[in-house]
Amino acid sequence: MEDLGEAVHVWDRVSPNFEISAIMKFIPQSPVIFFENVDGYNVRVVGNICATRRRICLALETTPDKLYDVILDAMRQPKQPKIVDDSPVKEVIEEPRLSKIPILKHFEGDAGPYITSAIISARSPDGTIENVSVHRLLMLDEKRLAIRLVPRHLFRLWSMAKECKRDLDVAIAIGVHPAVLLAASCSPPFGVSEYNVANKMLKDNFALIKCEKVEAYAPAESEIILEGKISHSEEALEGPFADITGTYDAQRFQPVVEVVNVMHREDYIYQALLPAGPEHILLMGLPREAAIYDAVSRVVPSVKGVNLSIGGCGWLHAVISINKQTDGDAKNALLAAFASHPSLKHAIVVDSDIDIFNPVEVEWSIATRFQAEEDLIIIRNARGSTLDPSADMETGLTTKVGVDATCPLKVQKGKFEKAKIPITEKAAKVIENLRHVCAKNF
Ligand code: MN
Repeated sequence: MEDLGEAVHVWDRVSPNFEISAIMKFIPQSPVIFFENVDGYNVRVVGNICATRRRICLALETTPDKLYDVILDAMRQPKQPKIVDDSPVKEVIEEPRLSKIPILKHFEGDAGPYITSAIISARSPDGTIENVSVHRLLMLDEKRLAIRLVPRHLFRLWSMAKECKRDLDVAIAIGVHPAVLLAASCSPPFGVSEYNVANKMLKDNFALIKCEKVEAYAPAESEIILEGKISHSEEALEGPFADITGTYDAQRFQPVVEVVNVMHREDYIYQALLPAGPEHILLMGLPREAAIYDAVSRVVPSVKGVNLSIGGCGWLHAVISINKQTDGDAKNALLAAFASHPSLKHAIVVDSDIDIFNPVEVEWSIATRFQAEEDLIIIRNARGSTLDPSADMETGLTTKVGVDATCPLKVQKGKFEKAKIPITEKAAKVIENLRHVCAKNF
């Protein structure tokens, strides 16, 4: 990243309380950002590792047009990683003292310092099922964290342990390969380990190590690993916490994790992940984009792209571009998109001449190619996202809207074409020169 000019360094002494999060929020272009001097800590912090599509593609050694296939292939053909005995993460093994780790306080209304970039792995009591997922962790004291468990896979493993009146052993790994973060954000069926998905993405070059004091496995190349037990009996108040929508998620009683052992590289780097930032949105959104792409491809012959847009929190809004073959394709695409990503609230289908990553072009397409009377779908009382503050809080019900902003095939196409100006060599040269002048002046 350094060689590609994608990294910047902050040498000023900055605090993990609000200062690092503020800098991450307001720095433009989301470069990889190293905080070299963290007030009160002798540990460096790095942020924005996966904050652009380009960097995620570089990490996976692929290109944007092949990214969905890489994700879908890994989900379809997961491969078990090898287990190694030694790794640099075992350079220091010590008693837990969470205050030695620069855990960030991000937003002013957050309940406290939160670990946001960790992947948490656990196995079922009989050892046959493994799960890896991302969860926010609130620091309670030197040895305890509160973990937000939505009723998905880790919750299910924890419930299984709870039935046997046992705590659930977990490995909490921070500073892992982008493929591991991305795989942990995918939702393969229960029973498929996300480590196997990551290993497939990494072309079988991924390795795990066994924890020292708990029955759990962590990436061998992690920067720091917290070994813990999710209590079957102890709960603590968790939240408020500003989550992906940039609004505060409510306070609830959630299980407590007791940290029993810590290992880290001697000179480890703590990975920061800004809630609601581009990295959070991309990691959560990309696997859903791949799922939508897959589902829409089954009903429409030619899908060009899918964007779970930043403004839609990478979760609630999709823009899909297709090469329309028959009238009605766009509506089928909308239905497939809603079916494949249950949290999706608003979806827009455009023609392939529209850049789905440019909100102005998408809006232009709605302005010039959309007629609500014919092109709008409204689905009332559907299940939506619990993260959407406008959804009905008691029932979780929401209204979904589909917008078909493609040109109708029945009218002559010229009517909807983007007007172009021919660009001569001379004009291109003048534009290029002016671009430099303008970049300097503004
Ligand atoms: Mn899972």
